[in-house]
Amino acid sequence: MQDKRKFYINGKWINPIKPNDFDVINPSTEEVCAIISLGGHDDTNLAVKSAKDSFETWKETSKQERLKLLEKLLEIYKSRWNEMTDAISTELGCPKDWCSANQTASGAGHIEDFIKRLKEFNFEPGFDNGSVNHIVYEPIGVCGLITPWNWPINQIALKVIPALATGCTMILKPSEIAPLSGMLFAEMIHDAGFPAGVFNLVNGDGTGVGTDLSGHPDVDMVSFTGSTRAGKLITKNAADTIKRVCLELGGKGGNIVFADAYPDAVRDGIRNIMSNSGQSCDAPTRMLVEKSIYKRAVEEAGDEANKIKVDLASKEGEHIGPVISKTQFDKIQNLIKSGIEEGATLIAGGPDKPENFKKGYFIKPTVFTDVNNDMRIAKEEIFGPVLSIIPFENEEEAIKITNDTEYGLGNYLQTEDDEKAKRVSKKLRSGIVYVNHKPADSGTPFGGYRQSGNGREGGTWGLHEYLEVKTITEWKN
Ligand code: NAD
Repeated sequence: MQDKRKFYINGKWINPIKPNDFDVINPSTEEVCAIISLGGHDDTNLAVKSAKDSFETWKETSKQERLKLLEKLLEIYKSRWNEMTDAISTELGCPKDWCSANQTASGAGHIEDFIKRLKEFNFEPGFDNGSVNHIVYEPIGVCGLITPWNWPINQIALKVIPALATGCTMILKPSEIAPLSGMLFAEMIHDAGFPAGVFNLVNGDGTGVGTDLSGHPDVDMVSFTGSTRAGKLITKNAADTIKRVCLELGGKGGNIVFADAYPDAVRDGIRNIMSNSGQSCDAPTRMLVEKSIYKRAVEEAGDEANKIKVDLASKEGEHIGPVISKTQFDKIQNLIKSGIEEGATLIAGGPDKPENFKKGYFIKPTVFTDVNNDMRIAKEEIFGPVLSIIPFENEEEAIKITNDTEYGLGNYLQTEDDEKAKRVSKKLRSGIVYVNHKPADSGTPFGGYRQSGNGREGGTWGLHEYLEVKTITEWKN
């Protein structure tokens, strides 16, 4: 078991002001894999002071100085790749090979891409030709970065790297149930040579450090990724200090499968939702299928879901691991039961753990058909390996059902008709539309409409999140 009780503040690993131990549980075994501390007001205040003090000098650094440090960080990240994979696989329960290729790789991908964007970024774009007015971009200041557990290093890199790149200073509060990857990342930042106080890490929960950060008068911005529930609380708590609040929240993505979809569209949709044990904010959790192919799609979906193996994170080969916690396990079980009670047809998986698993938060890959959009399984974010299949008559109805949600993060559509793909994409109310399961390139913006949030992370858009814009009316060259 790892002792991870210290916080990283002002360039040093220090003990919490008051001890407050918290067990980190390995979801595959239900055993304690590490002990961290939950911080209190005084720890948060210390970290904020350190970030505030260091902002005075860090904001004056040149792009070249910051690029050099980020390049060093990338080199260290790559050299400690396997440690990062171990940390994420232990805290989250995802299989190591998959974790390395997806979770760990996402961190490196974001560092690489932000280095590229920073090189191209012009912090003094000026204004119209002939105008003596001048526009400059400046770092917003001290940032509170609050991240979830489901793609831990992906979310951390999407916030920490652009904050560092733009000259901001920060306090990171990773998810208390998956803090190990964030703590390893802090070691890497230290070893890369970033000045003391620029980056600080305080572990804690939402009602403690999370709330202290969102309400703190010396925190200029909060960037939050997590549930819509917490996003609302953070927004309200931040209101008195009028700080910028960037939110990346939940989703309930639709995946419209038209009759002219490519042959493996349904099977790819199943693999997509089940990946990371269904714990992705932009997972295609509602599959809408055109009625003329409904019967075939249901057969393929059931067959594909039944092929997905569930096993320990430490096992090799293609499979999915458990979900992260007892809380998530219970919530998912409850929603699976609600699907049955509300009359949906279960064609794969179902309640209870898969056979042979007494320990671990394992869930059977589950597929419901004959779902209507008013059922809880179609409305609520389940965040587990559970898919709802909903039939539709025509394009107009598919768009209406897809948009009939309070969320708007990621939607999907499958058709070989390019014009239809363009037409439907534009009508879907979400920050991203994945067409024919094509992934988004690095550097594209990611974020939501409606209750999926208001931020855009990644690429140049991700840099802008951390910048103020200033107009200077006379700037003579
Ligand atoms: P969560 O909201 O419970 O917790 C997220 C983080 O916020 C944790 O660090 C937690 O300690 C903290 N927190 C909780 N309540 C808080 C409060 N009142 N004030 C301040 N901080 C608070 O979410 P989770 O269960 O860790 O993550 C899953 C959720 O994250 C899902 O809803 C998922 O869709 C969402 N998510 C969104 C994106 C995106 O980019 N839109 C990406 C990944 C995950």
